[in-house]
Amino acid sequence: MKCGRPLGNDDDELCSQCISEKHTYDEARTLWIYDDIVRKVISGLKYSFKKEYGEFLAQCLYGAYGEWIREIYADVIIPVPISRERMKERAFNQAEILAFYLSALTDLPMDGRFLRRIKDSKAQKNLTRGERARNLEGIMETSGLSPYKTVLLIDDIYTTGATADSCAGALKSSGVEKVYVLTLSTAGTYLL
Ligand SMILES: [Zn+2]
Repeated sequence: MKCGRPLGNDDDELCSQCISEKHTYDEARTLWIYDDIVRKVISGLKYSFKKEYGEFLAQCLYGAYGEWIREIYADVIIPVPISRERMKERAFNQAEILAFYLSALTDLPMDGRFLRRIKDSKAQKNLTRGERARNLEGIMETSGLSPYKTVLLIDDIYTTGATADSCAGALKSSGVEKVYVLTLSTAGTYLL
């Protein structure tokens, strides 16, 4: 299992997407399929300034993946960054809220500064796979050489994995060896 999406067939080791494209990150896990309820909870975290949602959601992640987190021996938890413009609009990064509470639960340090998003990507939804990859090229950078060997990336939603790959690319160029990804949910439309 690579991206953490549920597989249609127990005999399959990779989902159709992981078969057709190689990911830059090492392994990903996700908690829920993105449905109406999950959508409401995540938008509560994202748009309504309900930071206590973050604490609850981090507990959900920890409950399901606490053992996995111990097994990967991450040095640090890094939230998938949003751009400075987005940050101004929204006042906080929902991934950072999750990472903050997960850091408290796991005793792993969180670093919200090392990885930065230099520019916003256009909406990915209507782009082809090639366009998606180009769209996300060079949107992340690190502040220098990495003091970390193994990174646990945190985000709210996993769709194609392109954002995670773009983070992993920047991190690995700076010297990180392993990048693991943990998200709250994966978009069901990409399951097929
Ligand atoms: Zn997959």
